[in-house]
Amino acid sequence: MKIICIGRNYSEHAKELNNAVPTEPVFFMKPDTALLIRNRPFYYPDFTKDLHYECELVYRICKVGKHIPGKFAHTYYDAIAVGIDFTARDLQQKAKEKGLPWEKAKAFDFSAPISSFVPISEFPDFNNLNFSLNLNNETVQQGNSSEMIFDIDTIIAYISQFLTLRTGDYLFTGTPAGVGPVKIGDKLEAFLEGKKMMWCQIK
Ligand code: MG
Repeated sequence: MKIICIGRNYSEHAKELNNAVPTEPVFFMKPDTALLIRNRPFYYPDFTKDLHYECELVYRICKVGKHIPGKFAHTYYDAIAVGIDFTARDLQQKAKEKGLPWEKAKAFDFSAPISSFVPISEFPDFNNLNFSLNLNNETVQQGNSSEMIFDIDTIIAYISQFLTLRTGDYLFTGTPAGVGPVKIGDKLEAFLEGKKMMWCQIK
């Protein structure tokens, strides 16, 4: 399976990192070795001094598709989770300055903690989903799926022009404003529609 992540998909977050609001989706990938499941702890890696959380809605792809028209995109995902796109911001900043790829900053082991998935049938309006992140019991990020610059159907239509989507692939859909650093001892908790979905202790 593969993990596809959208960058800069909430305008307030693009602005907080001094990025232009994009005119087409920006995407990058993480390998399956980035997954961190079942609320396992995350061990702070020694290659960064500025590890940031980015809380995101994650959609699970449920069938194979290429060149998927936007109007059929909704038939290609069946479940939603919340996840964290851990980012070594210092490494990413260096890569951005040199115009180099982001993998070192984004695709490292366990950089994608994720909750269990909830079938989309459990959400009457999944274009209006609230999600949030607490850092040490204080809310630091709040988002709603309606605030995405590119909605999930647009993202699927766009990405599938380049990549075949397969059953079991995950799509991280970008983070709202409020990203920030974590340190050893911190605890992150992610919520979907007010329900705690996952937590992650930084060790
Ligand atoms: Mg992100």
